[in-house]
Amino acid sequence: MKLKNIILHFNTITKHRWLVFRLCVRAGIPWRGLVHDLSKYSPTEFWEGVKYYQGNRSPIFACVEDKGYSEARLHHHGRNKHHPQYWYDEYSRIKEPIIPYKYMAEMICDQIAASKTYKGKDWTKYSNLVYWLNTEEYVHLNPKLKDMIREILGRISNEGVNKVIKPKILKEAYYRHISEEKEYEHK
Ligand SMILES: [Zn+2]
Repeated sequence: MKLKNIILHFNTITKHRWLVFRLCVRAGIPWRGLVHDLSKYSPTEFWEGVKYYQGNRSPIFACVEDKGYSEARLHHHGRNKHHPQYWYDEYSRIKEPIIPYKYMAEMICDQIAASKTYKGKDWTKYSNLVYWLNTEEYVHLNPKLKDMIREILGRISNEGVNKVIKPKILKEAYYRHISEEKEYEHK
């Protein structure tokens, strides 16, 4: 366990939280920004992150390659409501429920911050939409909420983050999508 990696991993978490906090303030959910990802400082999540510290990608991927699973990820998803995995329950009648608004807004802020961190100067306003379109089919999330995310990230790729991450825009999109009657092929 290298001392250097302890410092680097601590900095990565703190930098990410600061970026998310600033976005959450814009989105009108400052408290969510303040408490975002605090479980990353818990021993289960923190020490795995130090051991598999990468710099350019999440240590979780390195841990999964090595061990086949990540206790940090399981711990994180079980405790943080801004992750679709927190809400997914394969044994329930509604496997992918409608997630409350504040966690959806936090989820979008988290996606933007993570993409900015890992892409660095290669990040553009299109990055989040491209990544989402490539991965959304693997995400267990209510289709109405997927539609909301697609719309918001699509608007960001046209108008930029600052024009779209606003309480009025996010709330309007959320409540419009969850109240729409739509036919989905549902599993
Ligand atoms: Zn998180």
